[in-house]
Amino acid sequence: MGLFSRDKPKIKIQTTKRDSFSGWLKCTHCNELIHTNELEKNSNCCPKCDYHYRLSTDDRIKSLSDPNTFHPLFNNLQPVDALNFVDTEPYAKRLAIAKEKSGSTEAIIVGTCELNKHRIALGVFDFNFMGGSMGSVVGERLTLLIELALKQRIPLVVVSTSGGARMQESILSLMQMAKTSAALAKLNEGGVPYISLLTNPTTGGVTASFASLGDIIIAEPNALICFAGPRVIEQTIGRKLPPGAQQSEFLLEHGMIDCIVKRPELKQKISDCIEFLTGNKADESSPINSKSQAQHAS
Ligand SMILES: [Zn+2]
Repeated sequence: MGLFSRDKPKIKIQTTKRDSFSGWLKCTHCNELIHTNELEKNSNCCPKCDYHYRLSTDDRIKSLSDPNTFHPLFNNLQPVDALNFVDTEPYAKRLAIAKEKSGSTEAIIVGTCELNKHRIALGVFDFNFMGGSMGSVVGERLTLLIELALKQRIPLVVVSTSGGARMQESILSLMQMAKTSAALAKLNEGGVPYISLLTNPTTGGVTASFASLGDIIIAEPNALICFAGPRVIEQTIGRKLPPGAQQSEFLLEHGMIDCIVKRPELKQKISDCIEFLTGNKADESSPINSKSQAQHAS
């Protein structure tokens, strides 16, 4: 076993089992047969039990933005192996594999788009890229996006799914927690709203920084949201955690998040939140006026 694998929190992601000869799938959550078309129509949520399967970054962007309005930004920033880090494999090799596997150049895609005609700054994590971990380029792309949201006075929406800090970048990764948080503090001072959407799983340094700093924090149902995984906590405190202790529903009950929203309803909900926070209806659109800034700051 590798040096870093022992205490890694186990994150269970259920996947559908593909039937070999038809479009029928067996939901691994409720064991019901569901058709691919049905699953796709329902934003990759099981139509029988409502289990939220993972959504690709492309599908996530499509599900939240108005057609053909997404413009990716800061793609020129690409991760490098500044520390020549080697665990069971060299970091440089892991990066190359991640790029190939995910089709992304880093674990976050950022850009601008319209959401129900509201212009927004959107960041979406890609779990397929090294578990959505936060390297220095993830932090930098996100910080540039926050700064752009402030400069252009457009609401910020970040969709998180992450294993946390990227251990291969050591302190350079941890520094992103402070950097993104500081940028968000400026965004808050400027009166520009930030909506954080937590999806399964959101963990570690991501939970412990920008993901928990939203003016409104929304989670998808049954998402694992935590700092350390259940096994690590149980080993540390020597006690069992209550059932579902790190899931959206438990966090809502204990005041850590503001609401749980099913995926097919997310776009409308975020749109409502934007209108609530900015006082702007879709047809009068952003940028956020100074009146709402004063309200926000008061
Ligand atoms: Zn199901």
